[in-house]
Amino acid sequence: MNSHFPHPRKSLGQNFLTDNNIIKKIILAAQIEKTDTVLEVGPGRGALTCLLAQRAGCLVAVEFDRDLAAMLRTRFASEEHVVIHQQDILKFDFDKQMEENRFKVVANLPYNISTPVLFMFLKEYRRLIKLVVMLQKEVGERLVAPPDCSQYGVLTILFRQWFDVRLEFSVSSGCFFPQPKVDSVVISLIPLKESRVDTGEQQIFETLVRSAFSMRRKTLRNCFKNSSLAESYNMENLLASCSIDGRRRGETLTIDEFALLSRTLSNHKQNLSVSR
Ligand code: SAM
Repeated sequence: MNSHFPHPRKSLGQNFLTDNNIIKKIILAAQIEKTDTVLEVGPGRGALTCLLAQRAGCLVAVEFDRDLAAMLRTRFASEEHVVIHQQDILKFDFDKQMEENRFKVVANLPYNISTPVLFMFLKEYRRLIKLVVMLQKEVGERLVAPPDCSQYGVLTILFRQWFDVRLEFSVSSGCFFPQPKVDSVVISLIPLKESRVDTGEQQIFETLVRSAFSMRRKTLRNCFKNSSLAESYNMENLLASCSIDGRRRGETLTIDEFALLSRTLSNHKQNLSVSR
């Protein structure tokens, strides 16, 4: 390990990739071409950055750590197609800071903020060509989980609505310095042209999904009773009109069943108003 680097900061999720084979496999999964603009989150000591800079037409890298960002700026000073921003990725302004409207994302994400970063990209999904991200195994498993298992939930459904999600490969903790306490996976996400399912109103769909998983061990009936939607709609009627048994738990519903509930609620929201 190069001794002039500052000591890794745990608070920034700094577990640097040291395995060249894994680095190459991530770059390969991203299928970078000279016409691509790539956004790298958390370039760190530059393990992925060097290969990305060689292959991409333009590379924008966002690193929170001031010292590392300064080192990367020096290292890539002569490469005009590489831009290093020192800032929090969660405050990144896509309109102002990305010249190209559509781009690929490649990242070994800081695990302490991987879920908010994923949700940030979910909002920006129309700009994305492909995401290849390293995540802690548990988060990766949630993205690829089938219904009726404990990992299946809000993250699974909202991402599968908009993306094809694929588990590329697993990475053991020995491939990083310092070694993290968890195992990791590399996941690729390719945005769909449109939503996988017809949900009616997207806001209703998201609220239904979040409500169904608000208390994992409770039935749908009980979860929906506490949902903000229950203030305006009769949720028992909704379940009955979709032939979905209220004694089921949220994790047993497929994305199509959530879409059916959402569509029905969107289409008939007037009729379903609670008659109190
Ligand atoms: N890409 C490097 C690699 O694979 O070796 C480093 C990956 S390390 C897991 C995560 C990187 O994200 C660190 O360099 C860390 O400083 C940076 N980071 C942490 N929080 C960040 C944030 N909010 N915004 C941007 N970068 C962040």
